[in-house]
Amino acid sequence: AVKQRSRNGYQFYWDTLNVDVQPQLKIEAQLVGALDRGEFQLHYQPLVALQSGEVRSLECLLRWNSPVLGTVSPVTFIPMAEAQGLIVDLGTWILTQAAEQLSVWRAADQPHLCMSINISPVQFEQPAFVGLVASVLDEFRLPGEALLLELTEGSLIQNLEASNVKLAKLRALGVRIALDDFGTGYSSLSYLRQLQVDVLKIDRSFITSMVTEGPAFVSMILHLAQHLDLTTVAEGVETEEQRKLLTSLHCDVGQGYLFSKPLPAEAIKALLAAQPMAFDHPVRSTVVLP
Ligand code: C2E
Ligand code: MG
Ligand code: MG
Ligand code: MG
Repeated sequence: AVKQRSRNGYQFYWDTLNVDVQPQLKIEAQLVGALDRGEFQLHYQPLVALQSGEVRSLECLLRWNSPVLGTVSPVTFIPMAEAQGLIVDLGTWILTQAAEQLSVWRAADQPHLCMSINISPVQFEQPAFVGLVASVLDEFRLPGEALLLELTEGSLIQNLEASNVKLAKLRALGVRIALDDFGTGYSSLSYLRQLQVDVLKIDRSFITSMVTEGPAFVSMILHLAQHLDLTTVAEGVETEEQRKLLTSLHCDVGQGYLFSKPLPAEAIKALLAAQPMAFDHPVRSTVVLP
């Protein structure tokens, strides 16, 4: 067997391979056909207006419960689905499911509720993507304003011109665009100015470090976003301290375990009925959703 020298002697290479590669092949094999076997489900996590406690939107997050592998994280299987090209059909399913669920909630008692949907760069690059979004809106009689599409900078700046052409078409439908995980990757201030987006989602890592390292970074991003007239969302809000700090910094929206974990549709119904969420913060909106 191949040997690798380590600090304390020898380690067998194939031991590592067994641990890392074998499961990946297994996962990839199970991924094929998983959509047809009905193994995917969507969970929903509220995006909460920090001033009023109202749930403005829900982010749909994909869950895979494989009868063979158990629960697999989207962080693991989404890149595999992208590499295999499966993400295109999967993405269409996600968009359709999420739009249908949204139309049900809007028709019940949440007429202004919106849905945030993560879009893979592979899906975004499909020539038929804008047409797909338009036909899904049409099928479920949703205005474009009901949808927020979450994309990362990385997927947009590869071909800035082409991305902006596509974003303009989506925004012409009324659909809003959110820049996900902002502050990670190749973030550049010049890109931010050039991209036609509506919402900035500040990555969880900045929210986590805010309390220990001080809010300078988050504060700077918020100022920048306000200057560019973008709605700001803080990802991964887990503590009261973070919520208070973000509210005082005029961040518009919070998302995180403090408010709710991503939940299946049945559980979201009760959560929506109980809003606005009660904060101990003195500023409370009197606006009631019609
Ligand atoms: P993301 O779009 O940035 O989603 C936020 C992730 O943070 C979710 O993880 C969510 O469950 C998690 N999260 C939310 N609040 C908190 C918190 O307070 N603390 C902590 N520790 N985590 C929190 P999840 O569901 O595992 O998804 C991970 C990533 O997988 C997503 O990151 C997104 O990039 C991708 N993903 C998930 N669903 C989809 C999908 O339907 N389509 C595509 N293309 N990608 C998806
Ligand atoms: Mg997202
Ligand atoms: Mg994110
Ligand atoms: Mg993130």
